[in-house]
Amino acid sequence: MSRPRILSGMRPTGPLHLGNFLGALDNWVRLQDEYQCFFIIVDWHALTTDYADPGPIRENIFEVACDWLAAGLDPARSALFVQSDVKEHAELHLLLSMMTPLSWLERVPSYKEQQQQLAERDLSTYGFLGYPLLQTADIIIYKANAVPVGEDQAPHIELTREIVRRFNNLYGPVFPEPKTLLTASPRIPGTDGRKMSKSYGNVVLLKDPPDVVREKIRPMLTDPARKRRVDPGNPDICPVFDLHKAFSPRETLEWAAEGCRSAGIGCLDCKGRLLDHLLHRLEDFHARRPEFASRPDTVWDILEEGARSARAAAAATMEEVRKVMRVGYGGAR
Ligand code: SF4
Repeated sequence: MSRPRILSGMRPTGPLHLGNFLGALDNWVRLQDEYQCFFIIVDWHALTTDYADPGPIRENIFEVACDWLAAGLDPARSALFVQSDVKEHAELHLLLSMMTPLSWLERVPSYKEQQQQLAERDLSTYGFLGYPLLQTADIIIYKANAVPVGEDQAPHIELTREIVRRFNNLYGPVFPEPKTLLTASPRIPGTDGRKMSKSYGNVVLLKDPPDVVREKIRPMLTDPARKRRVDPGNPDICPVFDLHKAFSPRETLEWAAEGCRSAGIGCLDCKGRLLDHLLHRLEDFHARRPEFASRPDTVWDILEEGARSARAAAAATMEEVRKVMRVGYGGAR
C-alpha cells in the first residue's frame, strides 16, 4: 500500500538558521520514513511580498536546497523541487480562485498581521491576498493527506480544508481534506534574546562554521541579574537556557539550571557546554554541506528531477480537475 502523502514548503529567503532547523527541517527529515513527501521551495510565495526585488531569489533557492540536502532530506525518497517548475500549481490556483469567497481570504489572520509587519512594502496586491489560496493549490494538487506546520500556519490549513469541502461539494470528491500535523516549535531565541529571525539580524545559520557559531553564542545575552560570576541567576528567563532545552540532554539541563541558581557555574561555562551539544548535533550537517555547495549542477539536477516527479503527480490531478470543472476542450469536437 502506498504511504500517505505530506507536503510542506519554505520560502527562498536565504540560508536557513537554527529556528528553521528546529521548527521544521529536522522534523521533515524524520517524516520521510513514514510518508511520501513533497518538499517545495516556494518561489512564487516569495514574490507575493518581494515582487519589487526578485534579484536574490535564485541564489536563495540554491542556499535553501543545500541546507535541505545537508540536513538529510533525501531526493531518493522525497521530491524536492521549486514551485515555479511545476506550472500546474498556477493553473489550479486560478481555477480555485473562481470559487473562493473573498471574505475567506480576508479573514486569514496572517493577511492583516503581515501587512502591518511589512508596512514599508505595498502589499495591497491580489497576489498577497491570494497567497493562502496558492498554498492551498500547492497542497491539494498532490492530494496531500497531511501538512506539517507550526501553530501560526494552522489557520491556512483550515482554509485549505474549507476550500476542499466547497470544491468537492460543487464538482464531486476529487480532493482529500488534509490534516494538520502540528510541529512543536520550541522557542528559539536569537543572539539578542528576541525570537531568532533574519529581520532582527540575530541568527545562527546552519551553515555557519563552528568558529562563527562560537563567536555568535559567546557574547549572547543571558539573565541580566547575573552581572558577576557570584550572582545567582534564573535559567527560566535566560535565552541561553532556551537553546539548552533545544540541544542539550537532560543531565546538562539539570547541571545548567542548578549551577545557574546557585552561582556554581559561570555563564561562559554554561555556553561552552551548550556549544558542545549544539555543534555535535550539527556535525553531520557541517560535514555534508560543503559537498553540495561546491556542486551546484548536482543540486539543480536534484531539484529538476524532483520537479519531474512532482509534475507527474500534479498533472494527473489536473486532468481530474479540468474534467469536473469542464475546462480544456481540445478533442471535444
Ligand atoms: S548560567 Fe546559563 S542559564 Fe544561567 S544566566 Fe548564565 S547562561 Fe543563562
